[in-house]
Amino acid sequence: MTSSSTGGSAVAPEDFREILAHTRKFVRTVVVEREREIAEENRMPDNIVEQAKTMGLFGYAIPQEWGGLGLDLAQDVELAMEFGYTTLALRSMFGTNNGIAGQVLVGFGTEDQKSRWLERIASGEVVASFALTESGAGSNPASLQSTAVRSGVDWIINGEKRFITNAPVADLFVAFARTRPADENGAGIAVFLVPADSPGVEVGPKDRKMGQEGAWTAEVRFQDVRVGPEALVGGSEDIGYRAAMTSLARGRIHIAALAVGAAQRALDESVAYAATATQGGTAIGQFQLVQAMIADMQTGVMAGRALVRDAARSWVAGEDRRIAPSVAKLYCTEMAGKVADLAVQVHGGTGYMRDVAVERIYRDVRLLRLYEGTSEIQRLIIGGALVKNAQRGR
Ligand SMILES: Cc1cc2nc3c(=O)[nH]c(=O)nc-3n(C[C@H](O)[C@H](O)[C@H](O)COP(=O)(O)OP(=O)(O)OC[C@H]3O[C@@H](n4cnc5c(N)ncnc54)[C@H](O)[C@@H]3O)c2cc1C
Repeated sequence: MTSSSTGGSAVAPEDFREILAHTRKFVRTVVVEREREIAEENRMPDNIVEQAKTMGLFGYAIPQEWGGLGLDLAQDVELAMEFGYTTLALRSMFGTNNGIAGQVLVGFGTEDQKSRWLERIASGEVVASFALTESGAGSNPASLQSTAVRSGVDWIINGEKRFITNAPVADLFVAFARTRPADENGAGIAVFLVPADSPGVEVGPKDRKMGQEGAWTAEVRFQDVRVGPEALVGGSEDIGYRAAMTSLARGRIHIAALAVGAAQRALDESVAYAATATQGGTAIGQFQLVQAMIADMQTGVMAGRALVRDAARSWVAGEDRRIAPSVAKLYCTEMAGKVADLAVQVHGGTGYMRDVAVERIYRDVRLLRLYEGTSEIQRLIIGGALVKNAQRGR
């Protein structure tokens, strides 16, 4: 893997401070103002998409040599906490380019594959989607059924993926398929770069989701899709499963940071509401039971933020790329769920009304406990790794 995929190269602190300040301003003055419009129209406004491209947000985690901003994961999470402050559809728009799809190429692509795709991914000219999940192979992707069969030097791909983020606008699918049954040499899963306009690629209608309006998912069907040998990531049939697991583990710390950002917003909305809304002439924030709710929210946010920063530091240093990402994702996404629930409670009936930020946050953050590994899967990873380490005498 390259140093970037392992979190090795970082942007100079003074440059990063500027990127962070610029991003914070963009989120809080441009996107927050248009949250309701994004939710109502279920789409990101074109000028927000363009502004994100100009700011380099489609490639903040892509190395600079490929035209990205080149942030390491410790910097990435600071940005993600800012993105989480507004509709999660903002982050979703460029999340697959920087994260699960882009990192497969950064970490495992050949030089040819990187030079063919990464610059266009970093600029936002190409939207890349990560196509792993299938019916019956979500939490257990090792059981996926999509196939890639050799035909001369080419590969023929068949299979059906579901819930694929950005599929309706994707130019490139980073698609996982089985080249052989799992055996003692590995999972038998390879990963291919499949242009979305390849004959046989079919994207279904947009899914109707609980929240995160403006972020789109859909089913993707590959029917006798022929790709050349250059499409096989890393030029090896055995890279797929490892690439998926590495990309997902890195992504977990990013999702944890996003959860902290969303929880911070829910807290800020709640404190502002508690300070001004009254019952019987008394600000509800004067009631100690309301204070207790916002105290619990603040405590969760601070603990989550510290955990995210520690997990990201430990990833960059190469100290822990297994337990810490799952701990961070488990804690922070569960915390954001509780904080969002308390935020609705603090708002009373108002919190149940559409167009109130905490109602959107309540629905938006529910997804964070499901994708990139459910909370149950994070617990299995953490518990399993701890016991394994103990058995190895570590
Ligand atoms: C909006 C959205 C966007 C998504 N984007 C993408 C994407 O871009 N690319 C992609 O490939 N996928 C994507 N996904 C898929 C997502 O990663 C899966 O939905 C998720 O991993 C869960 O898999 P599943 O839906 O098959 O549920 P299941 O795995 O069937 O889980 C159902 C329940 O069973 C539990 N469970 C499953 N296995 C075990 C076990 N071994 N032990 C204990 N409990 C278990 C789960 O924790 C859960 O509670 C997306 C999903 C959504 C909803």
